[in-house]
Amino acid sequence: MPISVRRFALTVVLLSAVQTTGCAAKNNQKEVSWDILARKDMVDSQIEARGIKDDRVISAMLKVERHRFVPKSLEKLAYGDFPLPIGEEQTISQPYIVALMTEEIQLASTDRVLEVGTGSGYQAAVLSLLAGEVFTIEIIESLADSAAKRLNVLGYENVHVRHGDGFLGWPEKAPFDAIIITCAPPELPEPLIIQLAEGGRLIVPLGENFQILTLYTKVAGVLEKKEIIPVRFVPMKGLIEEQ
Ligand code: SAH
Repeated sequence: MPISVRRFALTVVLLSAVQTTGCAAKNNQKEVSWDILARKDMVDSQIEARGIKDDRVISAMLKVERHRFVPKSLEKLAYGDFPLPIGEEQTISQPYIVALMTEEIQLASTDRVLEVGTGSGYQAAVLSLLAGEVFTIEIIESLADSAAKRLNVLGYENVHVRHGDGFLGWPEKAPFDAIIITCAPPELPEPLIIQLAEGGRLIVPLGENFQILTLYTKVAGVLEKKEIIPVRFVPMKGLIEEQ
C-alpha cells in the first residue's frame, strides 16, 4: 500500500478509536470531547515519541485546538501526522514540524517573535502561548484576513497579523528575539537578518525543491548555523523571487 494510503487508513483507525472512547466516556457520564483525546494521542505518538522534550512546547501543542485552523470538512483529520490544505494552494504544517520549530527557537515568555507565513494562524497560536508578542505576516490577503479573524475569535490577543511580504520583515516592531519562517526561501532574506536581535534565533526551511530546516543564532553580530532535518515547505513568494 502506498504510504499516503496507509497513513490515511491509520488515521481513520485512530479516529474511530477516539470516537469509540468518546462514546464510552459518555456512558460513564464523563464526556471527554473527541479533540482533547485526539490532541493527547497526537502529542504522545507524533511529538514526544519523536523526541520533543520541552514541557512548555508539549503543553502548547495539547492546548491549541488545531481542528479550528483547518477547513471544516477536514476537521477530523486535523490531528493526523501530515500537513493539510488550507486553501489558496497552501498548507498547515505537520504537527511534529510545528513542535520541532517551536522547540528549536527556545522561547522565553517575554520574547517578541516574528513569523513569516501566517497561513491558518496555527503556528502563531502555538508561539503565542510561549512568547510575549507574536507578529505574523502573510502574503495572501484572504489567508491573512481569515487567520486574523480566527485568532481574534479564539482569544489569542498577543498575536498581530499583517498582510504583506515577509521578505521585508516588520521593521517598526524589530528587533525580534526569534524569527520563524514557515515558507521556503532559497536564501535568507537580508532584512530578516538585520531585524534579528543579538542572541536571537531564526529558523527557516532553506532551499528550493530540497530544503533543510536550518537554525541560525546571532552571536556578537554573526550568524551561527545548525542544520536540523530535510523538510518540504511551500516556496516563499514575492520579492525573494526577484533576488
Ligand atoms: N504557518 C502556517 C503554515 C504556513 S504555509 C500555519 O501554521 O498554518 C506557508 C505560508 O507562507 C502560506 O500561507 C504562504 O502564502 C505564505 N507566504 C509565502 N511567501 C510569503 C511571503 N513572502 N511573505 C509572507 N507569507 C508568505
